[in-house]
Amino acid sequence: SAAILDTAGATPMMAQYIEIKAANTDCLLFYRMGDFYELFFEDAEIASRALGIVLTKRGKHGGADIPMCGVPVERADDYLSRLIALGHRVAVCAQTEDPAEAKKRGPKSVVRREVVRLVTPGTITEDRLLDPARANVLLALGRRKAGESASVYGLAALDISTGRFSLSEVPAAELASAIARHEPREIVLSEAIHADPALARLWREIPAPVTPLPQAELEPASAERRLKEQFGVSTLEGFGQFGRAELAAAGAALLYIERTQIGARPTLSPPTRESAGATLAIDASTRANLELTRTLSGERRGSLLDAIDRTVSASGARLLAEHLAGPLTDLAAIRHRHAAVEFLAENGPARATIRENLARAPDLARALSRLGLGRGGPRDLAALRDGLDAAQALAAHCAALDGLPEDLAALATRLATVDAGLVGELRAALADDLPLKRQDGGFVRAGYQAEIDESRLLGQDSRKVIAALQARYAEETGCRTLRIKHNNMLGYYIEVPQGVGEACLKGVMRETFIHRQTMVDAMRFTSVELGQLESRISGASDRALALEAAVFDALAARILGQAPAIAEVAEALAAFDVAASHAELAVERDWRRPVVEEGFAFVVEGGRHPVVEAALRQSGAPFIANDCDLSGEARGRIRLITGPNMGGKSTFLRQNALIAVLAQIGAFVPAARARLGLVDRLFSRVGAADDLARGQSTFMVEMVETAAILNQATRRSLVILDEIGRGTATFDGLSIAWACLEHLHEQNGCRALFATHFHELTALGARLSHLDNATLRVTEHKGQVVFLHEVVAGVAERSYGLQVARLAGLPAGVIARAGAILKHLEKAERDRPGKPRIDDLPLFANLSPPPMPEPTPEAPDDSLRRALDAIDPDALTPREALEALYRLKAEA
Ligand code: ADP
Repeated sequence: SAAILDTAGATPMMAQYIEIKAANTDCLLFYRMGDFYELFFEDAEIASRALGIVLTKRGKHGGADIPMCGVPVERADDYLSRLIALGHRVAVCAQTEDPAEAKKRGPKSVVRREVVRLVTPGTITEDRLLDPARANVLLALGRRKAGESASVYGLAALDISTGRFSLSEVPAAELASAIARHEPREIVLSEAIHADPALARLWREIPAPVTPLPQAELEPASAERRLKEQFGVSTLEGFGQFGRAELAAAGAALLYIERTQIGARPTLSPPTRESAGATLAIDASTRANLELTRTLSGERRGSLLDAIDRTVSASGARLLAEHLAGPLTDLAAIRHRHAAVEFLAENGPARATIRENLARAPDLARALSRLGLGRGGPRDLAALRDGLDAAQALAAHCAALDGLPEDLAALATRLATVDAGLVGELRAALADDLPLKRQDGGFVRAGYQAEIDESRLLGQDSRKVIAALQARYAEETGCRTLRIKHNNMLGYYIEVPQGVGEACLKGVMRETFIHRQTMVDAMRFTSVELGQLESRISGASDRALALEAAVFDALAARILGQAPAIAEVAEALAAFDVAASHAELAVERDWRRPVVEEGFAFVVEGGRHPVVEAALRQSGAPFIANDCDLSGEARGRIRLITGPNMGGKSTFLRQNALIAVLAQIGAFVPAARARLGLVDRLFSRVGAADDLARGQSTFMVEMVETAAILNQATRRSLVILDEIGRGTATFDGLSIAWACLEHLHEQNGCRALFATHFHELTALGARLSHLDNATLRVTEHKGQVVFLHEVVAGVAERSYGLQVARLAGLPAGVIARAGAILKHLEKAERDRPGKPRIDDLPLFANLSPPPMPEPTPEAPDDSLRRALDAIDPDALTPREALEALYRLKAEA
């Protein structure tokens, strides 16, 4: 606000603060004051609320108190991670000179401070701020106009915590699903894209902060310059041909990195380019519906990812999540992955050894990234040592294996590309116990460098000399309680009781002891000898620290010199982990290798739902396996499924979609046999009733999403529609569901599973050649409905709604009454001849809804009812009402 920006009348420190804050208005400013980061004004109010820390005040500005809160520097990471999780950005402002220097300039001058880094959700690197099992993606967007209205978008996905950098281009229609695939933590884009009204809804719905960058800095020329600088090349040709939109996106990403890292340049892998259509397109709501990486309520637990994750390393877990987010559409690549999984599934002992080695490999990619940004510590060096060591062991193990499939052999070769001497060097250099920060020292192994050993020895030696000095002074003064102590104010000093001190000043020690301080019951002295010793000690430890720092830098430089090779090793380890995870799971759950092929087959025999099956397993109930054939050969491409609620329709729909996803990420599938023609796009829509949070009518959302399917599904797509049309009045809904079904059948020609409660639709089975009906079997046992969860050809006879309602615990009275109404409705329907029946309607016809039968059921005639009818509730006092109730109960 204006008041904050006004430096007039501010103290010099506050003036400095205001100036720095003015340059970082979109961040919370962490302003370093001694051992604290302090926040002022509105920042303080926001942070104190977000972090639950005390809001106080410090001084006045413009006559008003300045709100203030602070966090200790030592614990800043914790607070940062909480603020980042809430979507805030934080500018870290450090003291960039020694306070002593500032004092030299004058008594009033303020220590120089500068923002050294912006901490934002998409640009963090610290382990404590990161989720080990998730990539931390900063997504930058660029755009080029391809024609009158069509735009092409470029996406640059960058994870600076691992250095991964990928580029792709998509048409405008696929922007949303491409963004959803990356699950970005933060999005940056040009002001123009941000302001595009057609995209306003998209930005609103994306669960990540979206930051516009100034247009002026996003010119193609500056994008090109940034890329060249980042990769130290004079031409971009080595990376292949960039699209204009991609180039813009890459430029925006690098601009943002420049702005947030302020001088530090992350080590990035050269951008990998993804061609259009290289991954199975899955839009955001399909991802959500299928609960691929998180459940509808947002948790990882209960998602497909959680159910299939058997990885043993963080980088493996991240890669698995990435695979799941972008299943392949390249047949050869999919088959290679399957072959790797098959080999590992069939070679138990090899798999076990491989997994042991993977499990002891720390997170190489993230350690490497921190070292590259100058934020690494001794433990990152150790991570490199242990990770590379595990990689070498793994490579050696693989070399001894027979029949290693191509994919794994290629990975094994990549494991061995790092200079073997590096591991030896790290092993020799690093001590067993390592401090967190390099400034703490003590991480170089004794014996690694003679000078460090010497300096340390000197330090230790001096301590011995001090002990000897203390003993000598004690003897000379005759004071057995004389101690040589140390504090930050005085450094080393001699302390004796008050009385002894007085004597020393006058007596024998008069020449030796120099008085420093008189306490209540003690006196403190120093001596020339002690002073000399002190400077020797601190000199020695300073020197040791400096030498250690040099060792650190040399090791880090040696590591960074091989950064590309190490990044490859990290990727290869992750890929090994993912393949071994699939194999482990396949063996554990008896999953099978699917056959993926060109064409339009979709044959699943004995298919199961991976998550529901796992949940049932825990409760001991069996999961009923079901077949599904959408090949359009023996049976139709589209299956219309009716059946009672709770029968297993949704489970069946989803399990087949998940089997397709699993097959195309290269995993085995929960089925006895599966033969699938490549799927190019996967759509799933459910007529959910809980979209209210999005602030749109449920029905509207459902229709928007359905429109997307009908417009985009191709012959190769797989479509799952669950209860479409439910969100509106019966005949509206029915007609919409009907028309959609016809459109899918006639126009899209895709494979589809369509679950509905509109039994009328089943008549279409006779008219649409590629449509077949299926239902979930149900039997009745002593008046109770029993769900068999078995999918069979045909149409559901009844909906069993009342039985399900009873199971759900609806009061018996309501169930009985509903039964009576139902009988009446059914009778009325039978009695009404000439009512339009669905088979009479032409394709794509406009339905005019027939009149609804009036629900005027006759009430059963009994005395209780007569007594009830006689009561006029409005005419009763509460007491009379209660009495009437007692009477009725007695009668019943
Ligand atoms: P619908 O969509 O028909 O209402 P759901 O698919 O939601 O039914 O299934 C209801 C419940 O029935 C599930 O939560 C699950 O516990 C159980 N179920 C579904 N399919 C199966 C199956 N094939 N085998 C065993 N239990 C199943």
